[in-house]
Amino acid sequence: MPIITDDKEYKGVWCYGEVRHGNLVPTIYELIHVAKGLNETLKEDVSAVLIGHGVSDKAQDLIDHGADKVYVMDDPIFENFVDEIYTQAFTELILKEKPNKLLLPASTIGRSFASRVAVTSNTGITADSTEMAVDADTRVLRATRPAFGGNLMATIVCKKHRPEMVTVRPMSFPRAEKQDGRQGQIIQVPVDASQWKQRTKFVKFEVNQEDVQDIATAEVIVSGGRGVGNAKGFEAVHDLAKLLGGAVGASRAAVDAGWIEYRHQVGLTGRTVRPKLYVAAGISGQIQHLAGMGSSDVIVALNKDPEAPMMKLATLSVEGDLFELLQATIKEINRRRG
Ligand SMILES: Cc1cc2nc3c(=O)[nH]c(=O)nc-3n(C[C@H](O)[C@H](O)[C@H](O)COP(=O)(O)OP(=O)(O)OC[C@H]3O[C@@H](n4cnc5c(N)ncnc54)[C@H](O)[C@@H]3O)c2cc1C
Repeated sequence: MPIITDDKEYKGVWCYGEVRHGNLVPTIYELIHVAKGLNETLKEDVSAVLIGHGVSDKAQDLIDHGADKVYVMDDPIFENFVDEIYTQAFTELILKEKPNKLLLPASTIGRSFASRVAVTSNTGITADSTEMAVDADTRVLRATRPAFGGNLMATIVCKKHRPEMVTVRPMSFPRAEKQDGRQGQIIQVPVDASQWKQRTKFVKFEVNQEDVQDIATAEVIVSGGRGVGNAKGFEAVHDLAKLLGGAVGASRAAVDAGWIEYRHQVGLTGRTVRPKLYVAAGISGQIQHLAGMGSSDVIVALNKDPEAPMMKLATLSVEGDLFELLQATIKEINRRRG
């Protein structure tokens, strides 16, 4: 594919709708929200792309959330996500339809998929973006992401190749709102896999057998920090999270100390979360932690230091020993539930 100096034949902002085990991953609504924002400058169409098996019935929902068009590739070959197959399908569609900007979720699948699609479409990609804007004169996308371990924010542009691709960090943006009955176009894309190459195959999917949720999607997160003291100290955090049907989060200090795995880390170099309730137990509330959870609806801080930044930020700040407070909360919930 040639280097693009004139992007006028590339039009529209596309959002990839990831489907996992037959369900649409809600990050697509965040992507549509971002796309609509970019479109205020671009004034082109916002489209969504669905690839999967039995996914056609999800197209109208994406229109209701703000997509003008939905491209659907619905075929048994897409039953399970396999990078090579999905990449060939998506690349063919991109080369044919020529979108201008392309947003994908920075999920585990999205990261792997997007980088392959960028290579096969011969274009550039900014990974894990948390901020995006379009330059009004050049129509170039400016995608910002944390760089050098979060020590600086880098704004990246892709000047000469199209589409400009970005993976968007889940939970970094609000979701597009639903408007029932919106009009849009659903385009069923014919699937011809006869020329596609496949060297890997899907074997099986094993669900992580944890009794608490993943922080990425949980509506309640109970997080522990250095104040928890050691790995055993996380048991009380875990007990409350389990009781509330939520997830266990952690500060980087706790993760770096080896008390809990990295996938629980909230913050600039961890994950961004936006739960309805975030309980911060023994977390001081440094800026890098707040960057990952500051948009939570309700924040409860449990800390023995009333001057800790988290205590100032929280909706409800409780001063005291976190273990005593967690145990008292668990006891009270159990009492009320009988
Ligand atoms: C580039 C960069 C990226 C970073 N990314 C992240 C990130 O993604 N996420 C992240 O969390 N941090 C990140 N950090 C680290 C961040 O700056 C802080 O060091 C870290 O968040 C501190 O964790 P903490 O609040 O658990 O520990 P501390 O700051 O040590 O706070 C511990 C708190 O526990 C309280 N406490 C202690 N004992 C008790 C008790 N018994 N009961 C009640 N309260 C108690 C204390 O009063 C204190 O407020 C990053 C730093 C840098 C430089």
